[in-house]
Amino acid sequence: MEKRELVIIGAGPAGLTAAIYGKRAGLDVLLIEKGVPGGQINITEEIENWPGVQHATGPELGQMFRSHAEKFNTEFRDADVQRIEIRDDRKIVVTNKEEIEAEAIIYATGAFFRRLGCEGEAEHIGQGVSYCAVCDGAFFEGEEIAVVGGGNSAVEEGDYLTNFASKVYIIHRRDEFRADRAAIERALSNPKIVPVWNTVVEKIEGDGMVENLVLRNQKTGETSDLPVAGVFMFVGQSPHDEAIKGLVKAAKGGWIETNDEMETSVEGIFAAGDVRTKGLRQVVTASADGAIAAMSASAYINEQVHLRKTLLEPENVVALFYSSIDREQVKMADDAAARAEKEGKKIVLIDGYRNERMSRKLHLDTLPAMVHLGSGVVKDVKSISSVEDALAFVKKN
Ligand SMILES: Cc1cc2nc3c(=O)[nH]c(=O)nc-3n(C[C@H](O)[C@H](O)[C@H](O)COP(=O)(O)OP(=O)(O)OC[C@H]3O[C@@H](n4cnc5c(N)ncnc54)[C@H](O)[C@@H]3O)c2cc1C
Repeated sequence: MEKRELVIIGAGPAGLTAAIYGKRAGLDVLLIEKGVPGGQINITEEIENWPGVQHATGPELGQMFRSHAEKFNTEFRDADVQRIEIRDDRKIVVTNKEEIEAEAIIYATGAFFRRLGCEGEAEHIGQGVSYCAVCDGAFFEGEEIAVVGGGNSAVEEGDYLTNFASKVYIIHRRDEFRADRAAIERALSNPKIVPVWNTVVEKIEGDGMVENLVLRNQKTGETSDLPVAGVFMFVGQSPHDEAIKGLVKAAKGGWIETNDEMETSVEGIFAAGDVRTKGLRQVVTASADGAIAAMSASAYINEQVHLRKTLLEPENVVALFYSSIDREQVKMADDAAARAEKEGKKIVLIDGYRNERMSRKLHLDTLPAMVHLGSGVVKDVKSISSVEDALAFVKKN
């Protein structure tokens, strides 16, 4: 089976940034993408909040990201990842074409906005139909626009959009919002917001850009026109978690949980970008996640390679696990190694604090501790409190 150091799944801003950082860190990187590199930004007309580029179309920015990753010789592969499996402690990426074993994986498959599904929606995306107020609100300065939805996103984003628009109609199929009370009060006291109750959008019309919405009142069945320059859909967003569902810890809705290092609940699997739990889903935050994930993956891979070579592969090895944040333990470890060497023995020193995962794997509950391993199998373990304890353990083993 093909074996790679770092496999990144998804070539959106998170995955492409991770590839750049991974390659610059000297890793062997494989970037798998099932569609067009660039990710979601490929379907937006304008991006004007990526620092350093005052204006670009989404596809232009996506192409710039791709070229940048190519400059560092990132290997791209066109495949659809179906699932990630853990087999005998090995991480296997199963695509529609092959299986690849990875030392570390960055899962950066992004998210998608649920569509309303009405006539005219798909052809007006990026032409007045939007799913992101932070991304596109500024394009509607002084215009009348509509928001569809009745939950927190619709009400809060509707309120935010009044910073630009002269009027914001919030179209909701029920006769009251489902948002927090404070958000509802704020929105309803905003003179620029006009709720349109018991109403659904039947059709979005416009020659090129959005010009009109055809509405239907759910109670009376009557249809009417609402001329607007844009419509924001807030009917939900979901992660592309299909290939990792059930393997890592996730929050409600499937959003992957990570810590600040982008580590998921499974060792060696990292998540970055829109697919994870976070407050702001944007290009800049996805890229930042990608950079952090790549550096964490690099540290993880180096740690694994080092530990394999020094600890798990040799036929016979005695190691002292110590904590690098405890000065006494650092001194004890150095002294023990030096004295053992004088006696013609070798103690491998491992920072058990930084290599916490390995300490846990070897069941070292307290540090400092001695371990005797033979080809990766634990033969003896002992907690110690002095250099003499360490030397006695070496002699015994
Ligand atoms: C219409 C629109 C306008 C936007 N405008 C802006 C804006 O102006 N400014 C801004 O900052 N943000 C904007 N955003 C948000 C921004 O695009 C996202 O936050 C960002 O793209 C997230 O990056 P990502 O890498 O996490 O995911 P994505 O961009 O979603 O990339 C994920 C990639 O993974 C691939 N993938 C998914 N599953 C698999 C699989 N199983 N196997 C292989 N590949 C897979 C996908 O094909 C995709 O290319 C906009 C989003 C939309 C939809």
